[in-house]
Amino acid sequence: MSTADQALRRARRWCGARRRGQFALTVGLVTLLTGACGALLLAPNWALPTIRADQPSSPQRQANSDPRLQAVRGLMEPFGPITAVRAAVGDGPDALVVGHAAQRAELAVLAAELGPATASISELWGTQWARSGLVVVASNPSEFAALLRSPGLVPGEVAAAAVADPFAAGTQPTGQRVVFGPDAGRRLSPDGLRTILRHELTHVATRAATVDGAPQWLLEGFAEYAAHRGARHRFAEIAPTLSARLRAGASPAELPADPAFTGPDAAAVYEQAWSVCAFVAETYGEPRLVQLYRALAAGKQTPDTEDDILRTVLGAGRTEFTAAWRAWLGAESA
Ligand SMILES: [Zn+2]
Repeated sequence: MSTADQALRRARRWCGARRRGQFALTVGLVTLLTGACGALLLAPNWALPTIRADQPSSPQRQANSDPRLQAVRGLMEPFGPITAVRAAVGDGPDALVVGHAAQRAELAVLAAELGPATASISELWGTQWARSGLVVVASNPSEFAALLRSPGLVPGEVAAAAVADPFAAGTQPTGQRVVFGPDAGRRLSPDGLRTILRHELTHVATRAATVDGAPQWLLEGFAEYAAHRGARHRFAEIAPTLSARLRAGASPAELPADPAFTGPDAAAVYEQAWSVCAFVAETYGEPRLVQLYRALAAGKQTPDTEDDILRTVLGAGRTEFTAAWRAWLGAESA
């Protein structure tokens, strides 16, 4: 195995590890109150070089005075001067990628990817979402926790997460941002960063249509599907653990249950969730996958309501749907 392969494997293992903490973040953070992290702001400043913005008309300087930075400036400046990079995202206002000098390389990768990521997600989901948002890269665990409003965050467990202010159903969420952890750039390849950006951005896009407590196999599977959509990643690259188990004759018996997304087998469970949504997209088409998301994510579901919705949208109840997915898995792994 080459050094590159080993690095890729390490990255994948870590990618699985960050997912173990992701459920709590993407679902739990939306209900946390703003301003809960005041103590974290007392952490000592980190010695980072000041970004020079000598040219009055430079895009960087303009971005550094963007009013949207107000949401994160107070959380980030205690950790050093911030810099912001504009990213064109279609016909709307530019999005902003914000970080410190030490994350310059990650900022560049993310800024370059925001346009294509936004276009791909909009093609799948539609354009009615906050496409001109904030993507933030933390420089150390304390800053990461502050940006996520999650003081109990275990550093190293999470690569990135999507955050929103608390909001009432039927209204547009505010305060949405994607936050990358301090290790993301070091532990992930640029392709890995791009994939995680698309995953988290999909949570931002679908947030207004997503009720807390909706089935995780759908929420995380859809984000994973959107993350890999059009990237020509092979089944075994996206789902290495699932692929190995299928080759060994071990197929998942059921759709993944919510607690499994934070359990010890979470990496494989995320892969299964991806495969369910990939199966729906390939078999019924992407518009039907989106229709299924909108129906299932609109509320907490029981096995009975899930069965009804699957029957209405896809014409197959839960048992029949699960059997068809398992048959698709068998064919994919053959
Ligand atoms: Zn997710």
